[in-house]
Amino acid sequence: RTVYLNGAYVPEEEAKVSVFDRGFLFADGVYEVTAVLDGKIAEFEGHVARLKRSLGELGMSMPVDSDELLAIHHELIKRNNLQEGAIYLQVTRGAADRDFVFPKEATQTLVLFTQAKDLTSEKAGIKVISIPDIRWGRRDIKTVQLLAPSMGKMMAKAEGKDDAWMVEDGFVTEGTSNNAYIVTKNGKIITRNLSNSILHGITRAAVLRLAAELDMEIEERPFTIAEAQDAAEAFITAATIFVCPVVEIDGAAINNGVPGPISKRLNDVYIEEARKAAC
Ligand code: PLP
Repeated sequence: RTVYLNGAYVPEEEAKVSVFDRGFLFADGVYEVTAVLDGKIAEFEGHVARLKRSLGELGMSMPVDSDELLAIHHELIKRNNLQEGAIYLQVTRGAADRDFVFPKEATQTLVLFTQAKDLTSEKAGIKVISIPDIRWGRRDIKTVQLLAPSMGKMMAKAEGKDDAWMVEDGFVTEGTSNNAYIVTKNGKIITRNLSNSILHGITRAAVLRLAAELDMEIEERPFTIAEAQDAAEAFITAATIFVCPVVEIDGAAINNGVPGPISKRLNDVYIEEARKAAC
C-alpha cells in the first residue's frame, strides 16, 4: 500500500512517525474515516467539516485546506486502485519533547491510508451487549483516544457477540464505533440527541435526513436497554457500515433475530444516495 505522510506518498513500510509524536504519547490527535464507493469518496464535505470542528475544539487548525485534502484522497484512491473501502485520516499535534502543556511550535502530523473492504453486501445483522460508558466527557470530538471502545468490543467478542452499546446513567449513548437507534412498534425511529455525550455521526445526519424524506417519524432522545429490547427493530450507523441491523441486545432477540424492514430500507436508500453524491 501507498500511504500519505506529511506531503509525501510513500510505501507503508517507509512511513515513519517520531516516538515523540503527541498522537503516540498523549492520544493528542483526531481522525476521520470516510467510505469509498466506486472509487469515489462518500460524504467528503461532512467529514471535513467535522474534522475542522474536532481540531478547533483542541486548539488546532487544518494542516492543509479542504481542496488539498480532497486531492490527497483522490491520489491515494488512484495509487492504491481502491474501488470500495475506507480512507483513514489522522491529524496529531505533532512531535515535541514530552510535556502535558501543548508545545508552542510543533508541526502537525497528517497521515492518510486506504483499506480495501466490501461495504455493500447484504448485512446479516449484529448481536450487541451493553457495557458501562467509561469514556471521557467530550465524545463529540473524534479523538484517537479509543481504548475504552476497543476494550468494549473485546468484551463483546469474549461473549461471542459482535459489538457493545455503551450505557451512561441508565441510557444508551452509542455503539463502540457507531450511533445507535431503535424503531418503536409504531414505526418511530429513536436515536439519542446530539450533545457532548456522543459523536455527531456523519452517517447519522444523512440517515435522519433520508428517513424524514421517506416520511418516517423520528424522535431524538435517550433510550434504555429495556426499551431497546422491546423495540420492533434496532440498528447502528457509521461511515463504512452505513445502516446495519441489530438483531440481539443482551441476549434478547430483536425482530425474531432477523434484520427488520426499516433498517434494510434505510441501508439501501443510504447506499444509493451515497453513491450518487460521492466525489
Ligand atoms: N460514534 C462513534 C463513537 C464512532 O466512533 C463513530 C464512527 O466511527 C460513529 C459514532 C459514527 O460516525 P460516522 O457516521 O461519522 O462514521
